Amino acid sequence: MITRRTLERLQSMARPDIKVLSLYLDVNPATGLWQEKTYALERSLDAMADGLGRPERRAFANDRALALALLEEHKPQAKGLVIFVSASQGLTWAAELQVPVCPEIRYDTGPYVTLLSSLLDAHPSYGIALVDDRSARLFVVSMGEIEEQLELQNPVPSRHGAQEEFARAASWPGGGRAHRSVPARGGVGNTERRHGNARQEHLKEAAQELEALRQETGFRRLVLGGPVEALVHFEKELPPQTAPLVIGRISVSMRAGDQEVLKAAMQVAADYEAVREGGKVQELMTRAAKGQMAVLGADQTLLSLHRKKVFELLTARGLSLKGYQCPTCGLLRVTHAIGCPACGSTLQPEPLEDVVEHAVRQALSAGARVEVMNGPAREQLIQAGGLGAFLSYA
Ligand SMILES: [Zn+2]
Repeated sequence: MITRRTLERLQSMARPDIKVLSLYLDVNPATGLWQEKTYALERSLDAMADGLGRPERRAFANDRALALALLEEHKPQAKGLVIFVSASQGLTWAAELQVPVCPEIRYDTGPYVTLLSSLLDAHPSYGIALVDDRSARLFVVSMGEIEEQLELQNPVPSRHGAQEEFARAASWPGGGRAHRSVPARGGVGNTERRHGNARQEHLKEAAQELEALRQETGFRRLVLGGPVEALVHFEKELPPQTAPLVIGRISVSMRAGDQEVLKAAMQVAADYEAVREGGKVQELMTRAAKGQMAVLGADQTLLSLHRKKVFELLTARGLSLKGYQCPTCGLLRVTHAIGCPACGSTLQPEPLEDVVEHAVRQALSAGARVEVMNGPAREQLIQAGGLGAFLSYA
């Protein structure tokens, strides 16, 4: 599972004198033939090798062989594949992704983690806690994958069990001690208190473990499941950084399988995201109308991207727009213009099948965030031209 911690570890591998070959591959069987994709990859690697100086070519050839060997082992079951290799550094790292990936190849010092970081931004990770009075199961969902991270089993005396214990103690031969505790009301009060304290200790421990997990994996949303009473107490134990992350509750058994937990949590997440995305598109429209550091509409947004003003690009899931690119300055446009609005060039612009894909890449390589809208927010954005952006300066 890839988390923020994974990125930090990868980044720490960068050596100023050693290059790393980074591949982001679209391996989704739904988007084309595997053979065609590997052929295109080989051609890109050839072109990259041609651009290198002699001393680097040998290292590159080794890295390329290593990457292709990894690819050979891969059986496409995912949507994306990321590979970082450096033969001279002894680095071979590969991960399958359950989310779509824009193909990209880099040969530079250190693994090129920028795209992975953007993918983590675009697919926020979730913590899930299933909690009852005596047990807790903690999960993390990152980019569509779920992993159970911890299971706690705390021996909390139940009310029922505790009374049985007292009953047994009372029947001990010569059990004076039990006799003192048993007399009805006081005894029950004690077991209630013991039960309550032990439960609170358990919930506190579970909350602390969850907080440690948040710090380690950086999840930004939290879904809870379990008996209502336990959850009420559990939420009170959550530290101030974690408590506001709760977006909803699921109703599954404490023994539910991973996929059942994932499915229920993703439904809560989808509802939450729909509301959040709707709010975001509304804010974009309002701010764009008032000229407050936001633009709406394809050409306006593409011009802002070109001028590197974009802080966050908003697009609609599955949207593609035909358009043009200026051969001189690279400006993307949806509507044809005789002169380029950015550089004034009058060369014939190159037609493009999809400017959205190019726009996403421009945004990511400029360090901007990209958010893809779904559901009603998607429809609203499409009606407004399909692209919009929040700007970092006017
Ligand atoms: Zn131009």
